[in-house]
Amino acid sequence: MEYRYTERSSRLVEPAERSTSPEKTRKEIMSKGSSGMEVILATLENTQDLQTILNILYILNELLTVGGGRRIGVFVSKGGTGILLQLVISASKESPPSEEVMLQLHSVLAKVGPKDRKFGVKARLNGALNVTVNLLKQNLQNHKLLLPCLLVLQVYSSNTVNAVSLGKNGVVELMFKIIGPYSKKNTSLLKVSLDTLGALLKSKTNARRAVVHVPVLLYIYHDWHRNDTCHRHILIRKGILGCLKNITNIKLGRKAFIDADGMRILYNTSTECLPVRTLDPLINTSSLIMRKCFPKNRLPLPTIKSVFHHQLLRVPAGGPVAQLYNQPLGVDDVVDESDDNEDAEAENEVEEKDHHAGNDDIETDINKLRPKETHSRPFEELKIYERFFMELSEDFQVLNFDNPKRGVTATPAAPKSHRQIIVPTAQALPLKNHTAAPLQGECPHPATVPPLDLDTINITKDQDGCGDHTHSRPHPGAGLEQELVQGLERVALDGAGPQGGGGGVNKHNRQSPILAAGVAARLGGEGEEMLAEEWAEEEEGGEGAVLQVPDTALLLPLHDPDLYVEMVKSTCSVPQFSEVAYPDYFGHVAPTFREHILERVYGVQRTKIFQDIERLIHPNDILDKVVYDLDIQSCPVIDGGESLKFNSQFESGNLRKAVQVRKFEYDLVLNSDINSNHYHQWFYFEVSGMRVGAPYRFNIINCEKSNSQFNYGMQVLMYSVQEAISGRPRWVRTGTDICYYKNHFSRSSIAAGGQKGKSYYTMTFSMTFNHKDDVCYFAYHYPYTYSTLKMHLQKLEALRTPQTYLREDVLCETLGGNSCPLLTITAMPESTSNDQICQFRNRPLVFLSSRVHPGETNASWVMKGTLEFLMGSSPLAQSLREAYIFKIVPMLNPDGVVNGNHRCSLSGEDLNRQWQNPSPELHPTIYHTKSLLQYLAAIQRAPLVFCDYHGHSRKKNVFMYGCSLKETVWETNISATSCELHEDLGYRTLPKILSQMAPAFSMASCSFVVERSKEATARVVVWREIGVQRSYTMESTLCGCDQGKYKGLQIGTRELEEMGAQFCVALLRLKRQTSPLKLRNHAHLLDVESDLMETRCKVSSNPSTYLLEDEEQSFMEEVDYSAESGDEPDNDPNTADNHLSDSESNKHRDSLT
Ligand SMILES: [Zn+2]
Repeated sequence: MEYRYTERSSRLVEPAERSTSPEKTRKEIMSKGSSGMEVILATLENTQDLQTILNILYILNELLTVGGGRRIGVFVSKGGTGILLQLVISASKESPPSEEVMLQLHSVLAKVGPKDRKFGVKARLNGALNVTVNLLKQNLQNHKLLLPCLLVLQVYSSNTVNAVSLGKNGVVELMFKIIGPYSKKNTSLLKVSLDTLGALLKSKTNARRAVVHVPVLLYIYHDWHRNDTCHRHILIRKGILGCLKNITNIKLGRKAFIDADGMRILYNTSTECLPVRTLDPLINTSSLIMRKCFPKNRLPLPTIKSVFHHQLLRVPAGGPVAQLYNQPLGVDDVVDESDDNEDAEAENEVEEKDHHAGNDDIETDINKLRPKETHSRPFEELKIYERFFMELSEDFQVLNFDNPKRGVTATPAAPKSHRQIIVPTAQALPLKNHTAAPLQGECPHPATVPPLDLDTINITKDQDGCGDHTHSRPHPGAGLEQELVQGLERVALDGAGPQGGGGGVNKHNRQSPILAAGVAARLGGEGEEMLAEEWAEEEEGGEGAVLQVPDTALLLPLHDPDLYVEMVKSTCSVPQFSEVAYPDYFGHVAPTFREHILERVYGVQRTKIFQDIERLIHPNDILDKVVYDLDIQSCPVIDGGESLKFNSQFESGNLRKAVQVRKFEYDLVLNSDINSNHYHQWFYFEVSGMRVGAPYRFNIINCEKSNSQFNYGMQVLMYSVQEAISGRPRWVRTGTDICYYKNHFSRSSIAAGGQKGKSYYTMTFSMTFNHKDDVCYFAYHYPYTYSTLKMHLQKLEALRTPQTYLREDVLCETLGGNSCPLLTITAMPESTSNDQICQFRNRPLVFLSSRVHPGETNASWVMKGTLEFLMGSSPLAQSLREAYIFKIVPMLNPDGVVNGNHRCSLSGEDLNRQWQNPSPELHPTIYHTKSLLQYLAAIQRAPLVFCDYHGHSRKKNVFMYGCSLKETVWETNISATSCELHEDLGYRTLPKILSQMAPAFSMASCSFVVERSKEATARVVVWREIGVQRSYTMESTLCGCDQGKYKGLQIGTRELEEMGAQFCVALLRLKRQTSPLKLRNHAHLLDVESDLMETRCKVSSNPSTYLLEDEEQSFMEEVDYSAESGDEPDNDPNTADNHLSDSESNKHRDSLT
């Protein structure tokens, strides 16, 4: 092929001047595909003739400009980069080097570089870095040459090794010579220099070199901000911020930034940018820098150990609890002594890697996936559990058939749940003598007051004739709210002593809307007197007014306020709670309206972060007033209505401290799980003294998880007492401007598992209250206390019909002295004939448990749905009872629930990590539950289904985790052994049925992979050690659904209870799909579904679904609102950055061609 170009040395050949049409030339080259490019490259490589080289470079410049990415791809693949770089080297050896050749070479390289992934390495190996750098140094005034060289340098710098090497060669300093204050000239040059500098500063060595220039960068940024009024140079401004962003990755850089008043400069410029939406990238990057540089604060606590302490009789030998117990006195566990942020940076990098390496957790040891052969315990030892399975030997010969014997009597150790128990005083708190919350501005309980005797609480109904619930029922036809209003019952709460009766009622009644926070059961001890006086005082003129209790009896058949208080009395709590929260007392009637998943409002997180930064900019605006503090014995000062009142001294409450930051803003600190120093997520507290219409902002400032469903549309729950007494007793999803982000409170390495430089996270929400003199409660999720469970169990008992077999045993006592109920539900045999008794005894077992994690209250609501269905009178329920024997432990962790823990029991450990080796002393509920299962396995009656109900804080919908050897092996690609594996596919049947019938259930979220981190969970241990093939964890979302009938809605108790009922119906369908004959030997049962293979493939092709039961660290949402990088716009395709990039790169192109 021949190229005929006019011999011109200094200008690009104009197409019109060529003797052949350029179109034709291009066509020739293109028609032969890559061979044309090969010819060009071969010529370029072999010719020594300067002019020929130039001519070819002209052609290349033109070809590669027009041809786009594909042509450059061909060029790179044919080795073009290397040839060009060699030419750069040889041209540099000429003296002086031809400026034109260098110009053309760098122009082509600038086009090729960004498309060649190995460009940086090739340039370094060819020795081209220094040639370009020297060229730059010598031509700082030659803008024509400068631009292509800078563009190439920018590509060099994106390689980290190159960046370090270039830094050593003074390129950082060189860039600072080019960049400068606002000027309309040479903006392209400036832009490229800033981007190059930004790339270089990703290296920490280079960042250190640039620290001295931080004031300059800030000055330049401010100058551009001031002068670029038409916002034509957003990219330059962003380039400057990019440099600052990288310098402030190192500690010295952050210090320099603070010293140079960077916070104020970026805060002010950002505030001025706020009205212009196209400036968002600038605001976002500024915000990122400011958050990084924000000085770390100390959590306002003396220690991060839980305020309440439970002395363990036996401390575990190792682990976090042992560490906690062995922590020397006087050690500050709130912050680290030295804030070594360099460590934090290294750690951040590791963190990112972890995100991508999610598969590390899959169990790859095939022996750990196979059934554990030997039973670790001799049968003699297990034999004592026989008494929990009386139904397996029951002959019904001596019984009154209509009144089945209940097991409670068979377990003398168990206190009857309705027995009134005096809270023991022997276990007074060893560390501190905790005081109850103040009442009406005064502290009724001095530190020395002995714990309250809950039996002094007494609720009496008003004497005006409608005191009896059963006679004041509303008409069934009335609307829901009307019913409630009509049914409002006048109930007075009386504190007149243990047998107080109704005598003192009138004296103690108070005007109904005026509610002392927590008044319902706050009485007792010396406080009682005070309260009585107060009431008497306020009662002047009140005509027998009383606290109105909404009658929820019709709508909540399992609820009874009086019974609830009775239950509370026998509940043992470490803080020895003496109060009852109104929502638990009144009950919750699920609203009939829909509660949508919130659309996230644009810029919410940014606004909140700016408000946080203002604390630093305008420190005088900050009140910093402690209004609630469990750590301090003396009562916080409550002034004349200037502050909200907080309280959480009731079952499941866990607010530790409240600090008024601004007039309507409060920082809240959650208490740690008892005997631990972390696990802050669950919250439940009471607020009163609010102003109507004021925009309150609440910040929970010691959250730990790196992301939260609060970033994806989940709202907090609120219960208003005023609403309740107006006939709407319910929790509602509420709060606006909700978001979750990393804050400036540092987290010590003790709190962060040894990692230094970590921070806490803030969950913030805003709230405007509608009622004066209201008492409102906020919770993470619908509360469900242990006392509520006990109440529900008593009410369920009343649902029993002669056909129902229900037994309630006490499995064991917990460390805190609460009993752990075990239910047995099945149908009575139809007769006492041998056949019927035999059928009765041989029904397959279904074993269910729930609420091992106290913060997952949704699991209890699902369990409530299951229990109510099982005890129901529907034919389905009867069939179900006839089909199975249900063994249910509805609350595996009563102590955690009572004491407001999020995750642990009183031993400070996650009970769902103790199933391999539970200790009877430390984990009694797990030890005995596992023993029940071991007993069943030993007598060849292992359950057909085992399911442990949980809640999931990071995912939507309801779904299951199961265990499959094969699916685990597929996930890990251990191909060698997989062919020998035989596995029954029955484990998929139940979730499959559920996905077909339960609207909240999602098969796509299910996973059957066994993870290493889960080897000690109920699901895996019951599968492997007990041999239950259908062993599951059922996870219910705390947020809402993104599929099915409830798509777009937040989950409520109605949906959760429905899920529990649907689970029962699914079991019935499972029964139908499994032949009764085979049921007895279900381990060999094969109930393959037609579409099994299809779903299996779906799961294995979607690796994210195997993640993870409740450690959601690795779970990534589709939309990244990542709390970490916040609104960092770099990867956002919709930022102004990208809109502008076209015109900017056109400018470059113009100047090059
Ligand atoms: Zn859980």
